[in-house]
Amino acid sequence: SFQDTIPNPLFYKNSAGLYLGCNTAFAQQIMGIDQKMIIGKTLAELDNVISSELIGSLQGQDLELFQSGGSQVYEQKVTCSDGVIRDFQFSKATFSDNDGKVVGLAGVMMDLTEINQARQKIQEQADKIKKANKRLAELASLDGLTGIQNRRLFQEKLNLHIRLSNRNDSILSLLMIDVDHFKSYNDTYGHIAGDEVLKSVAALLGKNARSTDVVARYGGEEFTIILPETSKGDAMALAENFKKAFAANAWPNRLITASFGVASKSFKISKTRQLEQILSQFINQADTALYHSKEIGRNCVTHIDDIS
Ligand code: GH3
Ligand code: MG
Ligand code: MG
Repeated sequence: SFQDTIPNPLFYKNSAGLYLGCNTAFAQQIMGIDQKMIIGKTLAELDNVISSELIGSLQGQDLELFQSGGSQVYEQKVTCSDGVIRDFQFSKATFSDNDGKVVGLAGVMMDLTEINQARQKIQEQADKIKKANKRLAELASLDGLTGIQNRRLFQEKLNLHIRLSNRNDSILSLLMIDVDHFKSYNDTYGHIAGDEVLKSVAALLGKNARSTDVVARYGGEEFTIILPETSKGDAMALAENFKKAFAANAWPNRLITASFGVASKSFKISKTRQLEQILSQFINQADTALYHSKEIGRNCVTHIDDIS
């Protein structure tokens, strides 16, 4: 008959669940038996060709449709007659007699396996791209050797914290740290050993900083820490703590010390275009204080306010 020319499996049954008819696609692809073996039977009577699990699920859906009337669409995994599990979309609707009484339902099945697989592939690819982008963003902002924030991210965060300090009328402090006599360390123990020291310095600073402090590698053997809402006194105390942590650390070859420069400021910025200049002035102040620490003998802390 004409329904056998339709490639989608289709079926219809009466309100008692007895199959009234189906097409060849349904009989062969789904049930794997002749149409004649299906007609007049219920799902329960076909338990030799389909799983009891599937029977239970389909019976539940049929019952729901008969109760609600109208139409019903859902997806269901079906083990086909060739043993392959496929995703099908069932589209079903009830039909009524002349008095309007529901007497049965008709359904058509659409194989969504390939569409679902393609959809899943696209989703997986999107997830991969998302992950790769996240990794790229990290790489662009983290220092390759130490894994802490790099100079680029430091500049961005300092910019942000200057604006926050300006808005909240709070004091912002900045710490510049430079490892002492590091060239001689490299010359004596090699560049690889030097790299290990830089990693340890980054870890030591991170461990001793507060959660709101921003620790970054400024470049080479120079590190910097943004101390939000931190006064000169507190910043000096923190710097002394870092100095003590260097002294207490178990270094592999010889004691490593560092020199510190500190600047503290509460900003009064009226024009945002001044920001870049203010930012580099602030860094220069901490740098000048650091230079002073180097000059007076290293392994010490200097605040810019105490020398200018
Ligand atoms: P000072 O106490 O005056 O700071 O002396 P210093 O030797 O630390 O300073 P200088 O600027 O003369 O030398 C810095 C050294 O840091 C030279 C350079 O080889 C080393 N350095 C910079 N970046 C790295 C790095 O990524 N790995 C290693 N192993 N060494 C580095
Ligand atoms: Mg240096
Ligand atoms: Mg140095």
